[in-house]
Amino acid sequence: MFESLTEKLGQALRNLRGVGTLSEENMAEALKEVRSALLSADVHFKVAREFVERVQQQAVGQQVTKGIAPGQQVIKIIHDELVRLLGEGTTALSGERPLKVLMVGLHGSGKTTSTAKLGKLLKKRGYRPFVVACDVYRPAAIDQLEILAKQEELGFYADRVSKDVPAIGSAALAEAQAATADCIIFDTAGRLQIDQDLIEEVKRLRARVQPDEVLLVADGALGQEAVNVAKAFHDALQLTGLVLTKMDGDARGGAALSIKTITGVPIKFVGTGEKTADFEPFHPDRLASRILG
Ligand code: GDP
Repeated sequence: MFESLTEKLGQALRNLRGVGTLSEENMAEALKEVRSALLSADVHFKVAREFVERVQQQAVGQQVTKGIAPGQQVIKIIHDELVRLLGEGTTALSGERPLKVLMVGLHGSGKTTSTAKLGKLLKKRGYRPFVVACDVYRPAAIDQLEILAKQEELGFYADRVSKDVPAIGSAALAEAQAATADCIIFDTAGRLQIDQDLIEEVKRLRARVQPDEVLLVADGALGQEAVNVAKAFHDALQLTGLVLTKMDGDARGGAALSIKTITGVPIKFVGTGEKTADFEPFHPDRLASRILG
């Protein structure tokens, strides 16, 4: 599992050969390499620095266990700390029924697709899901959700005339109740960048429908700006979870570490493809290995 990192840290780890106790000095080179591995995985530079500092604090003074190469011990500390950080919090959704979930995020992050994916997954878990199109600016987004809802046999609500998003939210809740749905997922509008007007609109929708979960949908390839995106959404909407999308691509997923560190919000699901079945609960160990690459 640690082979690629071991390779990357090559010389730095060889320098640790024979040491009996880990110290700031003998680990410096290895930790520098770890920091650069994190940066090349798109982890925000401040987050990478903090992470390395934490590992250093933990490791300094540790006796090297007999029979283990000191370098491997350092790598294990790094990996375990990353798994711990990424895995903090629960991947489970709130247990309440009806479960109300608000999907938020930038345009193109995969919100609409993830709304349908989550509906499908919850249906498999015995829920009767209902998905709601709240992107009143893009008729194509409403059509996209309608097609996916039909395909997955999920309840669906949209209003193609009104621009009053909170009112659409209330009407959707009434429709869902009439349809005896016990899980309502709201797909909201996004922009390419943080847009205050839009965030205000989602805030009003949030206040109206009182969701149990507010999930930020974020592209796994989001780079340094992941921190600002996550902060803006979290400050305005009190996120309860993160959905990391497009992890079938080349992205190493450093955005997840940035977002997790900045918001403290647990990562709940991962999107692994364009199909509605390409969606799974989050596994911290897999992502840690990928980030350390
Ligand atoms: P939205 O604007 O946030 O609603 O984003 P969409 O749901 O429309 O997704 C934008 C594009 O990303 C679409 O072409 C989706 O098929 C694609 N997409 C979404 N999630 C994933 C994923 O996990 N993997 C891949 N490869 N593509 C995805």
